[in-house]
Amino acid sequence: NTVFLNGEFMPAEQAKISPMDRGFLFGDGVYEVVPSYNGKYIGFAPHLARMFVGLDTIEINLGYSESELRDICDRLIAENSNDENGGNLGVYIQVSRGVEAKRYHAYTNTGKPTLFIHTFAIAPPPSVDAPKAYRVNMTQDLRWQRCDIKTTSLLGNVMHFQQGYANGFDETILFDHNDFVTEASSSNVFIVKDGVIKTPKLDNHKLAGITRLMLLDILRKHSDFKVEETDISRSELLAADEVWLTSATKQVGAVTEVAGTLINNGKIGPVWPQVQGLFSQYMFEE
Ligand code: PLP
Repeated sequence: NTVFLNGEFMPAEQAKISPMDRGFLFGDGVYEVVPSYNGKYIGFAPHLARMFVGLDTIEINLGYSESELRDICDRLIAENSNDENGGNLGVYIQVSRGVEAKRYHAYTNTGKPTLFIHTFAIAPPPSVDAPKAYRVNMTQDLRWQRCDIKTTSLLGNVMHFQQGYANGFDETILFDHNDFVTEASSSNVFIVKDGVIKTPKLDNHKLAGITRLMLLDILRKHSDFKVEETDISRSELLAADEVWLTSATKQVGAVTEVAGTLINNGKIGPVWPQVQGLFSQYMFEE
């Protein structure tokens, strides 16, 4: 498996990073996951746009343009596609602030950021004929106040995810102090109620998911569904007709249980196949 680290392509085993890297010491960096199927990306431009906003926010000057990054990703995909992964690859791009002489909270930005890109096998796009049903846990969102930054400091997300995973759940949906849904530990949340598709509106308590963004766009352009970005309370979530998770690798995932409460009697509802179908139809155009 070929990876890219700081200007060079190399076998994964040869990629080495200093323990003084601030990505290692502080989780001081951002990342993206862009899916690619047979060499075709989903949402490359918006994923990279979000990464550059994140880099600006934390004052890292990467020194690579979007098109330079795309060339690197293209080469990794070409080299790493094989029969085993069927050309279904997630491209992971991580930028950390890099190595500084001492471990100290303040940064000088005198060194070069560390750029690491690798690919990993992902499932093929979900099929509406053989859907996966997600069972999710729920808990209070105990992360920080800047969840809009896609930082590699993921301990909060890891702890929330693990809390569900250790109990046999696929994800964990999170609520703020007022019991409104923020997001899930690695996905955004949608519900359907009486034919209306709803998702929490964006703020600093959730990541502006690219799949969320693309799905809203596709629904508004190519369907008659009523779509709302609005608060969703815990009781609305549990009483929803359908619940979905979105993320780059899941696309739209239908949820049939939230912590013991069955959604639509534990069956994937009728709106999901239409919406995943629309997503599949238009996802390469976004
Ligand atoms: N929210 C969190 C916390 C995430 O980590 C992710 C993706 O991994 C998402 C939402 C979904 O974002 P995207 O659709 O860009 O993958």
